[in-house]
Amino acid sequence: MEAQKRGTLFVFSGPSGVGKGTLNAKLFAEFGEQMAFSVSATTRAPREGEIDGTHYFFISMQEFENRIANNDFLEHAQFAGNRYGTPKSYVMSLLEMGKNVLLEIEVQGAMQVMERMPECVSIFVLPPSFEELERRLRGRGTETEEKILRRLETARGELAYADKYQYQIVNGGDLEAAYQELRSIYLKETGRV
Ligand code: 5GP
Repeated sequence: MEAQKRGTLFVFSGPSGVGKGTLNAKLFAEFGEQMAFSVSATTRAPREGEIDGTHYFFISMQEFENRIANNDFLEHAQFAGNRYGTPKSYVMSLLEMGKNVLLEIEVQGAMQVMERMPECVSIFVLPPSFEELERRLRGRGTETEEKILRRLETARGELAYADKYQYQIVNGGDLEAAYQELRSIYLKETGRV
């Protein structure tokens, strides 16, 4: 029997409001049977409509600390006052099963993954401008003003990391064009073209 080809690990970052989630959802809609999304753990409170175990595993700070101590995370980071981590054994077993795994994570965590798993494929999604990012983030209407300002400040810092990624995609309003770029990266890196 032919050995199962190991899956490809994708690290996907970009500032809040840049459309990462929408692009990922499109990729999953097209290639879902070859792919898996890793579900992260976080200490932040669920937003309306978010389901524990689907969007995140919502855990306490104490539980988060315990998992770090157990070396359960492939990477972990702080973002806008909350903590986030990728479950290591889950991701590893998906890759072993031949699934292409997509991690949608912020830049600090992405740097850790690039160092630990240099074979990963890293993609950064950029807004056309900072002003446009602010407009989109406010338009989402899910956060308080204080939180929005905090996220904008974080976004400024995150944009500085864009060139550390193998690929950059500008989501300039034409979602379909941005998706086609993501799609061709996916096909190239999974060896399907
Ligand atoms: P949100 O609170 O909006 O869901 O996520 C905030 C940021 O944390 C986003 O950039 C998201 O991609 C990132 N994030 C989500 N899960 C993880 C994770 O497991 N590790 C890291 N480093 N970042 C994560």
